[in-house]
Amino acid sequence: MGRIPKWRRVAFIPEVNYFKPVGTSISIPEEVCLSIEEAEAIRLKDLEGLEQEECAEKMSISRSTFCRVLGAARAKLADALLNGKAIRIEGGNFEMAVRRFRCINNHEWNVPFEAMVAAPPQTCPTCNTPNILSLQPPGLGLMGRSGGGRRRGRHG
Ligand SMILES: [Zn+2]
Repeated sequence: MGRIPKWRRVAFIPEVNYFKPVGTSISIPEEVCLSIEEAEAIRLKDLEGLEQEECAEKMSISRSTFCRVLGAARAKLADALLNGKAIRIEGGNFEMAVRRFRCINNHEWNVPFEAMVAAPPQTCPTCNTPNILSLQPPGLGLMGRSGGGRRRGRHG
């Protein structure tokens, strides 16, 4: 449909992204999949205790969208906890609050969310080389966006 995805700004990617219940007889539990932006909504509202208005602003979304994301996240967590399901945290329509890039000549620079969403950098601002790489935090590679990062192939 060519619909432009709405990017949500995320400042944190959880390091542990899989939780599995113990003490059940089910060896392969059902999973709920929490997106990175849903995890961020929980983090801002329930962990940092921010007001919804502030949370929405931090994620660059409207308050009603934030409510929807938070509601979905809480429902998934409740489902997992009470029904003994595993939780996987990955994917979604998000971009980092700030991304750090490095070029082949070891220049490093930061690209803020707004610039990433508008147009990811193509060249190094210092030496103009197109050989740049996004220094991705763990978990960021899972999203469905190439984002200008060059991934090293598994076979070298
Ligand atoms: Zn450079």
